[in-house]
Amino acid sequence: MNALATVVPTPPAASGSAAAAAKGALVAADLARDFPILSRPVRGRRLVYLDNGATTQKPEAVIEAERRFYRESNANIHRGVHWLSQHATDLYEQARERVRRLLNAASADEIVFTRGTTEAINLVAYSWGRANLKAGDEVVLTGMEHHSNIVPWQLVCEQTGAVLKVVPITDRGELRLDAYESLLGPRTRLVSVVHVSNALGTVNPVARMVELAHAAGAKVLVDGAQAVAHQPVDVQALGCDFYALSGHKLYGPTGIGALYGRRELLAAMPPWQGGGDMIRTVSFEGSTWADAPQRFEAGTPNIAGAVALGAAIDYVMAIGLDRIAEHEHRLLAHATEAAQRIPGLRLIGTAAEKAGILSFVVDGIHPHDLGTILDAEGVAIRAGHHCAMPVMTRFGIPGTARASFALYNDEADVAALVAAIGKAQQMFGGARR
Ligand code: PLP
Repeated sequence: MNALATVVPTPPAASGSAAAAAKGALVAADLARDFPILSRPVRGRRLVYLDNGATTQKPEAVIEAERRFYRESNANIHRGVHWLSQHATDLYEQARERVRRLLNAASADEIVFTRGTTEAINLVAYSWGRANLKAGDEVVLTGMEHHSNIVPWQLVCEQTGAVLKVVPITDRGELRLDAYESLLGPRTRLVSVVHVSNALGTVNPVARMVELAHAAGAKVLVDGAQAVAHQPVDVQALGCDFYALSGHKLYGPTGIGALYGRRELLAAMPPWQGGGDMIRTVSFEGSTWADAPQRFEAGTPNIAGAVALGAAIDYVMAIGLDRIAEHEHRLLAHATEAAQRIPGLRLIGTAAEKAGILSFVVDGIHPHDLGTILDAEGVAIRAGHHCAMPVMTRFGIPGTARASFALYNDEADVAALVAAIGKAQQMFGGARR
């Protein structure tokens, strides 16, 4: 499809500061200006937004793409004979091509739009899982999975009689690869692993894990929710069979995400939801299915969301994901050093390979109290189990405070975080010794 450049208007931010940033070093404060919400004060203070692991803020280019879709292009897709419907269909399919490009998938037919990572994993569990798992088969997960990569497998294992195996993690928050290898065997059907842990920041050695799984005859799903906005991802280089992502963690809208699935696997998978758009023919005697990816996109999808996700992908690709990764690594190293100088603060997750996530506990202050005090200072972090309860159990803690970085964060945000933690310690009776 070559209409990409002509039909889709160039997102304003990608042609402005993002493009400028691509020419030199990434300047977070310049890029922050692309994000309208970052200039609003919160509780009378400058907003220091460090909850990017939960969701990222949206650049003007994404907000404008969604608004523009509804103002200029809105119609239902695929079934229409009129111009506007064909135009909306083009935009939707061009967004699919952008996801393909982001992941370097071989074909846009390998990209299924979903509501997000959770739905992408459920799709694989209910379609591939129910068709391929039987009693005694094994599904290998890791001890650092988000609940959305645990519960769907528990549900499908209950239905099929397959069993879950869990790769343990070390005190630093790394996977025990020796244990992983010994868990793999002739009964392993699937390995489902998080690329970047939202609770620990660990970047897992996914390519190596795929190699080992494939050698054992198993398929591999990678949960990329925390990876795609922070580093280049190449599903062909990783060799994985499925890759799941959420648009809202990638500077795009909520309610849109995608599943990459290898062509031959998607082709063999049965539908998991029925409805319009996923069929070839319907009669009361029986129905036949559309090819992938439409087979897995029953009903009217989030068309505007997909188009705006496409704009988000243009935005990060114009900056360069390698540049974003470099910036966030530098910031993480700076924040880690600063945090280690705070008496009574313990980092949870100190893996050698980490993305921009700083999880920690502070002596004598519950993470929720810490989060509330930081909020009063205008510093937005997350506190709790981060939907990764097994990680908290592993470390014997109720939860952590978590600062998670994005391309618009810089040293000033880290300084605000550190100052606010100091204030919390003073309030809690001078835990700072
Ligand atoms: N996997 C990981 C590692 C996550 O961090 C999250 C969300 O925080 C999810 C999956 C679920 O993503 P979503 O709620 O967008 O489906």
